Amino acid sequence: MWFCRGGASSLRRVSKITTRIPIASFAKSQREMTQVTDTLLVTGGAGFIGSALVRLLIAERAYRVVNLDLLTYAGHLESLGEARHDPRHVHVQADIADAAAIRDVFERYSPSGVLHLAAESHVDRSIDGPGAFVHTNIMGTFTLMQEARRRNEQCTREGRPFRFLHVSTDEVFGSLHEGDTRFTADTPYDPRSPYSASKAASDHLVRAWGHTYGLPVVITNCSNNYGPYQYPEKLIPLMIANAIARKPLPVYGTGANIRDWLYVDDHARAILAAFEHGESGATYLVGGDAERTNLEVVRQLCDVIDARLGRTGAESTYHLVTFVNDRPGHDFRYAIDASVTRDQLGWAPRESFGSGLEKTVDWYLANQAWCDRVTTGSYTMERLGLGGAA
Ligand code: NAD
Repeated sequence: MWFCRGGASSLRRVSKITTRIPIASFAKSQREMTQVTDTLLVTGGAGFIGSALVRLLIAERAYRVVNLDLLTYAGHLESLGEARHDPRHVHVQADIADAAAIRDVFERYSPSGVLHLAAESHVDRSIDGPGAFVHTNIMGTFTLMQEARRRNEQCTREGRPFRFLHVSTDEVFGSLHEGDTRFTADTPYDPRSPYSASKAASDHLVRAWGHTYGLPVVITNCSNNYGPYQYPEKLIPLMIANAIARKPLPVYGTGANIRDWLYVDDHARAILAAFEHGESGATYLVGGDAERTNLEVVRQLCDVIDARLGRTGAESTYHLVTFVNDRPGHDFRYAIDASVTRDQLGWAPRESFGSGLEKTVDWYLANQAWCDRVTTGSYTMERLGLGGAA
């Protein structure tokens, strides 16, 4: 592979895939981008998925990575591990909606591509305070698109390639019922929470900039992620943290809502595959073929924790499950048909839900100090998303 430190097997895989890329300039550019000086701008690279992507880029590619992250409550440079101190990693603390700061970053680093992950990402927080979601997810994406457009024009004049990859969610497609067919790239948008509405708006902006200004864009829509370094406000890390501390495990409603789960490193590989080998203008759906009700997830999690901590019988973690008021407007089911992504990008998850969950539990058991550090301050794992202040 052009940037990979891997061997011949990578080369074979990539050369097969590149024949599908219709944009000749980008395919050519891929071969040219062999130097360490090629720079990618990753936004949100100190967050959960962004940090997994930066760790992957530093470990398996030769790019310089400019990690643009405001370091909100959800962003922690510590999540980058060794990649944080690699000479090819640069962190810039800035708001993606700050046009002057974004221009400065583009002018200073002249990126060959952008992988855009920075976002407000928690549905419950979007119910309590939607303004931050409009600011970052919509205005922030708009600000990046404008600067990416300028950079693309400059690259075109210089005969250099440029690409903008936007990371989005399956939640933009709305809610499925049991028995409905899964989401595909043709599913109409039907966002139903402030979070998913703001992500849908950002997807529309990215597509419009591709269509109107010829910006080479790729969009990925992925299902629910889980894995190490996920902020403990989301279902799986919150349950693990509470289970370890023998606190109640709050399950919304009856726990019947269904999500389709993917291990975070598998998502990072899919993003990279879409960036390097995807078709400009295309949308790739990414999912783990792992639909579970929330209660099934919690049950399986409790089994792993019981096995790890030697809890049995009346001591079983499952006794901590507590049903609480449902999330307002809680979407019933999300499910992704990722077959096109698998076929066209040669991508497939490496982890099953079971193996990924075991890795995740082991990581949280070994890294409780990380959880303690990131939850000090304004968030102390209290219930969010009941729609308080407007
Ligand atoms: P996260 O909340 O863990 O991380 C978001 C990062 O963005 C943080 O590091 C934060 O500091 C940064 N950020 C927030 N506002 C910013 C701003 N205004 N300027 C610059 N940086 C800012 O989110 P995540 O779970 O890693 O999600 C990353 C992306 O993937 C998001 O776009 C999200 O919509 C998408 N996504 C997430 C999931 C999931 O299950 N977590 C699934 C599909 C898609």
